[in-house]
Amino acid sequence: MYHIALASRPEGAPEPANFRHEPKALPTPGEGEVLVRVHYMSLDPYMRGRMDDAKSYAAPVPIGGTMEAGGVGEVIASNDPKFKPGDFAFGMFGWASHGCLPGKMLRRVDPAQAPLTTSLGVLGMPGFTGWYGLMQHGRPQRGETLVVAAATGPVGSMVGQVAKALGLRAVGIAGGAEKCAMAVDKFGFDACLDHRAYDSASDLRKALADQCPNGIDIYFENVGGRVLAAVLPLMNPHGRIPICGMIAWYNAGGLGSGAQVAEPSAPALWRNILVRFLSVNGFIISNHWNRFPDFLAEIAPKVAAGEIAYAEDVAEGLENAPAAFMSMLKGGNTGKQIVKLV
Ligand code: NDP
Repeated sequence: MYHIALASRPEGAPEPANFRHEPKALPTPGEGEVLVRVHYMSLDPYMRGRMDDAKSYAAPVPIGGTMEAGGVGEVIASNDPKFKPGDFAFGMFGWASHGCLPGKMLRRVDPAQAPLTTSLGVLGMPGFTGWYGLMQHGRPQRGETLVVAAATGPVGSMVGQVAKALGLRAVGIAGGAEKCAMAVDKFGFDACLDHRAYDSASDLRKALADQCPNGIDIYFENVGGRVLAAVLPLMNPHGRIPICGMIAWYNAGGLGSGAQVAEPSAPALWRNILVRFLSVNGFIISNHWNRFPDFLAEIAPKVAAGEIAYAEDVAEGLENAPAAFMSMLKGGNTGKQIVKLV
């Protein structure tokens, strides 16, 4: 088998030298364990955080360790009576061609119900994140206005579609004209603004104000940076900000040019929260897996019926995962970033 190890910790944006593609001994499943050949692996923004040796909600990947990832694949050996060879399962197998985990840490996936890749995106962790964050912390009400950035990604596109189905006005923010067209045409956003097309947060704010004539009730926070600076002054009293992610700041120094990451000052941030009576709630989805069955029960039939759309961006080959990951952090992906291994 092969895996991709963390060769060194990045300073700022990750580089190819931070990753090492190398052979690894194929594990033999122990008591209760299941060996899986990974068909598709998920690439997610949170993996950037695992590359840093910083205290966080999850431990960093050690130098030389396998990069962390969820994947879906076929069982090839099993010491758990609940799984047999030929079954398909999702698990945290890492950036690797094979994974060996206790059966109780796997989730069975049925390729007859939905394509395997959907277990990594629209019907997996990111889709669940969008649904949970919006419903739990956004508290959407018919007629309200919602804004979300990374609008064509698996989190943002779920947020926008659920909001639209509930009768909200949904305004997306995405990078580039193509993604903005996709947000409107495929995911049903009322409008979508290209955050790269504005020179400053105040220009972006003016365009947002035009698209949000009744102000913003819910800002689903995926990115931070200057999108946050543009949105804050437009928030309505008693608005809600579920804090899901802040990808503009994951590389500490910022991802784009200086102008792209102009950020609100702490006093501006606090003052806006104070005088607008905002509810700001951070959440980490891995603490809420108990709600995953509710999510699947509601959303899986809608995906099967074509009422919830999804987009996937599939890179080929484990060895190409680092390039796909580095590109995704800069917006190079269109839809859920996946790596096809088999
Ligand atoms: P995406 O597939 O949407 O990929 C990330 C996108 O972020 C890029 O495609 C790019 O989109 C956008 N982006 C990158 N840099 C910037 C920037 N400086 N300003 C604005 N946008 C930027 O990711 P996901 O849907 O998987 O995740 C979205 C967010 O949700 C991330 O912040 C992620 O960390 C977070 N998340 C949080 C979870 C939790 O438990 N709290 C769980 C899962 C995800 P574009 O080209 O359109 O700008």
